[in-house]
Amino acid sequence: MPGAGCLGSDRRRARARLLVDAAVTRRAARRKQRTEIGPPVDLFEYQAKELFAEYGVPVPKDKVADTPEEAREITAAFAAEGTPEVVVKAQVKTGGRGKAGGVKLADGPADAYEKAQRIIGMDIKGHTVHKVLIAEATDIQSEYYLSFLLDRANRTFMSICSVEGGIEIEDVAHSNPDAIARVPVSPLTGVDYAKALEIIKAGRIPDEAAEQAALLAERLWAMFTDEDATLVEVNPMVLTPDGRVLALDGKVTLDDNAAYRQDHERFADASSTDPIETRAKEKHLNYVKLEGEVGIIGNGAGLVMSTLDVVAYAGEAFGGIRPANFLDIGGGASAEVMANGLEIVLSDPSVRSVFVNVFGGITACDAVANGIVSALGLLASRGEEVDRPIVVRLDGNKAAEGRAILTEANLPVVEQVDTMDGAARRAAELAAAAPAKGA
Ligand code: GDP
Ligand code: MN
Repeated sequence: MPGAGCLGSDRRRARARLLVDAAVTRRAARRKQRTEIGPPVDLFEYQAKELFAEYGVPVPKDKVADTPEEAREITAAFAAEGTPEVVVKAQVKTGGRGKAGGVKLADGPADAYEKAQRIIGMDIKGHTVHKVLIAEATDIQSEYYLSFLLDRANRTFMSICSVEGGIEIEDVAHSNPDAIARVPVSPLTGVDYAKALEIIKAGRIPDEAAEQAALLAERLWAMFTDEDATLVEVNPMVLTPDGRVLALDGKVTLDDNAAYRQDHERFADASSTDPIETRAKEKHLNYVKLEGEVGIIGNGAGLVMSTLDVVAYAGEAFGGIRPANFLDIGGGASAEVMANGLEIVLSDPSVRSVFVNVFGGITACDAVANGIVSALGLLASRGEEVDRPIVVRLDGNKAAEGRAILTEANLPVVEQVDTMDGAARRAAELAAAAPAKGA
């Protein structure tokens, strides 16, 4: 048949894209699921170094700038104190900034302005640079590596130390595995000076730096435990020509399971959080913003995840319509939770239709149906008239009763479809037919 081969390859490509999309949405959903027990809290370098300084881990003098002008002023102030040379460092939560051009030396205020101008706004591995750290430039004689981490596999902590620093430790592990020391650290005995020295010696840090490096390691361990970190990494830890040992870079991951006894809010990063996600969090909703057009609401993380897949699949037939979010309203699904969920989902202007997919369990479908009816009433009374179609699929416990309630209520924006595939298809179709909001 003419063109059949072509159709085949198109379909293969579409299928491949779909698998990628599904993987992406699943990953986002998994990320969200993790937030129920608490996501790891990654710090910016400047935040990590603030903690270092609190614990007496030596760091160069530094200050954060949001604009090139600020970078210039900070450098001018440093120059007035006798250190005109600075390093301008992109603040993004990813490594390899140096290689990407995000770490630049500057010889004075004007140069710092120029380097900051070049670095702010830069994209480093998908992270946009909003801030730069202006740090007093350090003369480097040698670069080492030191970290503490939670070693889940061995149910203990571990220190990694190497005389080969400044490059990613994974690369050292590849090129020169013997240069890396892995020293288990017992949570019961921790790291005193003697243990710290053992770690430093195992990493073959030379004698001229060993004593100070061990002190640094001891303090770093204190920070690691006191702050409930799962990772602290200093790469590079440097030896200067005048014999000082400092942390020139810092990476810290805090354990959010300890949030109840730590103040993690102070590390919150408004610039990288989606505003709808922030509002959802305030309403205690388990929501992740995605890229598509069909708003998704379901009960249970597993069901919502498969709903994302089914909608992405159905959307292929309508020019690539995709799910706009992940939202798990959990087991309860009261009218208020449903109203909050609908409000959050509909506040995303890229949403053109909503798919409410509920499998009745302990909370039966009749309760959910009543929830939907009162949610629409509640939204109307809040002045938030629902202006986009809602496709509802109810199944499981008391599905028939739930469906009857919705049929009876005869809500103009609500349409019922009995199967998950059919409902996904209808939601995708409605999204494809609707104009974008505000367009
Ligand atoms: P990363 O690339 O994201 O790990 O950023 P780092 O802060 O580790 O910087 C990368 C590299 O830039 C370091 O390994 C150093 O070689 C160099 N570097 C950073 N700060 C300074 C500095 O103050 N003086 C000098 N001479 N080099 C620096
Ligand atoms: Mn580094």
